[in-house]
Amino acid sequence: MAQDNTPLKNLINLAGKGAIVTGGARGIGLAIARRLAEAGAAVLLADINAGEAKKASNELTSQGYNVLSLKCDVTDEADVRNMVAGAIRKLGSIDILVNNAGVYPRKPLDEMTGEDFEHVISVNLTGTFLCSRYVIPEMIKKQRGGCIINIASIEAVHPSSTGMSAYDASKGGVLMLTKSMARELGPHDIRVNAIAPGAIKTQGILSHTGVSPDRNQLKELKSFMSRMALGRMGDADDVARVVLFLASDLASYITGDLIVVDGGYLVS
Ligand code: NAP
Repeated sequence: MAQDNTPLKNLINLAGKGAIVTGGARGIGLAIARRLAEAGAAVLLADINAGEAKKASNELTSQGYNVLSLKCDVTDEADVRNMVAGAIRKLGSIDILVNNAGVYPRKPLDEMTGEDFEHVISVNLTGTFLCSRYVIPEMIKKQRGGCIINIASIEAVHPSSTGMSAYDASKGGVLMLTKSMARELGPHDIRVNAIAPGAIKTQGILSHTGVSPDRNQLKELKSFMSRMALGRMGDADDVARVVLFLASDLASYITGDLIVVDGGYLVS
């Protein structure tokens, strides 16, 4: 329960908490893991790319953070079940779940197969459901509340580019799943929120759009950029800071909400 005399540093302190970040090997997920660890949480990177996840956790550990990694394909229910069991063994408790793993292949509707569509839905939406499904009973068992943060996208509320119908549908689903979960889990003091990033500079988005990270040639992103009130693409840490806010007691009365982190794209 929020108290108005709690010192600020305590509100943002995650010491003694365990966190899972899916897709945490790189990009936004890695930035999130770093901020949660910096605030004192023990963090598990759960990623389909075991090698990259191990490399990332080793690097964060060498910087003094408490970070581990486990291979997990969020579309595979058995994998998710094992990952959550591993997290309980290694972290002691799961207080924070960040459903970040996502894919964003582009394909026009008339070229998209059912399999293409299903793949995007299964990683972005079903993966979010599965990880939550196996974490929730653990949070309820501990009786100390919890926090689930789903990384959606501005595409959840506004389709912004062509060839992204499967992605947009998946992220729209993530938004409504967030709201529905918030209603159902509120009585257990589990807060569930979503974040809608705009264009964030990550390895994934840069290779996806054909933009070189070094030369920063903004081909397709040019028109996107022209709509950004702040005039720049976001950094992964712009999103991570908001995750930290939502995961902390600073956000103790926020649930079922969507925070847009898009540099002003949607208002332009
Ligand atoms: P990214 O750089 O591609 O990193 C995503 C990570 O998730 C990769 O390590 C990837 O592994 C992993 N992953 C993919 N499929 C997985 C699966 N089935 N199970 C577990 N892990 C899996 O992506 P990002 O740009 O950081 O995006 C992260 C999230 O933010 C996504 O949900 C994305 O939709 C959302 N988002 C991003 C932007 C943006 O502009 N970057 C904007 C809005 C929303 P591999 O490398 O092996 O594929």
